Amino acid sequence: MKFSLVSLGCPKNLTNSEEFTARLIAKGHELLLDSNGADVLIINTCGFIASAVQEAEREIQAALKLKKQGRVKKVAVTGCLVERYKEKVAADYPEIDLIFSIADQEKIEKTLLKTGTHLSPLPKSLYLPEYKMSLTAPHTAYLKVADGCNNRCAYCTIPFLRGPYRSKPMEDILREADLMAQHGAKEISLIAQDTTSYGQDLYGGPKLVELLENLLKNRAIKRLRIMYGYPHRVTDELARLIASTQRIFHYIYIPLQHIADPVLKRMNRHCDAAQIRRTLDMLNKRVPDISLRTNFIVGFPGETEADFKELLQFVHEYEFDNLGVFEYFREPGTTAHDLPRQISQRLKHERHLRLEEMQSRVIDRINKRLRGTVLEAISDGPTFGRTYKDAPDIDGQVTFTRPVKAGQIFKAKVVSCDGYKRTLEPLI
Ligand code: SF4
Repeated sequence: MKFSLVSLGCPKNLTNSEEFTARLIAKGHELLLDSNGADVLIINTCGFIASAVQEAEREIQAALKLKKQGRVKKVAVTGCLVERYKEKVAADYPEIDLIFSIADQEKIEKTLLKTGTHLSPLPKSLYLPEYKMSLTAPHTAYLKVADGCNNRCAYCTIPFLRGPYRSKPMEDILREADLMAQHGAKEISLIAQDTTSYGQDLYGGPKLVELLENLLKNRAIKRLRIMYGYPHRVTDELARLIASTQRIFHYIYIPLQHIADPVLKRMNRHCDAAQIRRTLDMLNKRVPDISLRTNFIVGFPGETEADFKELLQFVHEYEFDNLGVFEYFREPGTTAHDLPRQISQRLKHERHLRLEEMQSRVIDRINKRLRGTVLEAISDGPTFGRTYKDAPDIDGQVTFTRPVKAGQIFKAKVVSCDGYKRTLEPLI
């Protein structure tokens, strides 16, 4: 069978695509990079927020058009849009040949022989996939340590789509990381909805530090990156471990969402401003060159001008290297959907622009300090890449003053900066 793939959404969903694609290839099926001539076009969708749903629908319509033109034989849809809307996907798009759940990805070869809608409950446990391939650049890889979430933030649909928190057994993660390193991955990013809760379900307590210590025992693993930490679960112990080695990038992605206590409370974020500040102060003290990435939601129901000004002041003060701003979206099925004092789209957008404007002033200050310094860089291509401050796909990109071999990690000097555009001279 010739198949092609459209993989949408977050790195967690990408690892699902990597696993079922590898299974098909291992069974002798052929992955086409262009859908023309495919027996089946698989769309692994995202569905956690309206804009992701719209993107999935556009891809479905494009696929159905290819089918109508006889360029692909069968259209199959899976992923979070199916987990969220189930039969409604078939009702909206009766021309789709096959709709299947994330659970059915495990038996992908058999599943693709079917037609119609096949909905199975989410897998109860995670484990080492028997086959794996990388759909990222060969020198980087995403290592999913857990899936699902128990945090139940008021605006989030993910717990309904990905189910309760399920950690992958530690020995499976160590084996998977070793395989990734053996196959050329130099930068392995640990991902989950909440990486800092790793092990809570399987081992009765958080085991991220122990997991990292065991990963570091494998000298084939060059660099690790910690993504998706939960504010008050980033411990002093974790910070000490990060500070103790260069093999864990001095970087952490902690989606904070807001800083004003009344908003954090209505978001059901399980932490308050004081805890967030304690975590960030501890990180900055333990790891002076720590690079912090975060996200904020503006326009959450009930957010006052005072709450928003507190957020602006916080961003001014803590100077995040990378920051994402999202306008609150009223997602059906979430508890926030029914909260009073919903904010107008005009005001959400105005606050979005004000926060980005504040962040651009922060980046100017950071750039003043960066010029002339030496940073660890990763070449994603001969003339471009990232520094340790930038995770793949979501953070900034840098250019090099001269070509280097792709897929390397090396020291480089910052020679110029303009906003997020930075140019580095490779010191190799
Ligand atoms: S931590 Fe909150 S925002 Fe993140 S996946 Fe879980 S419920 Fe959603």
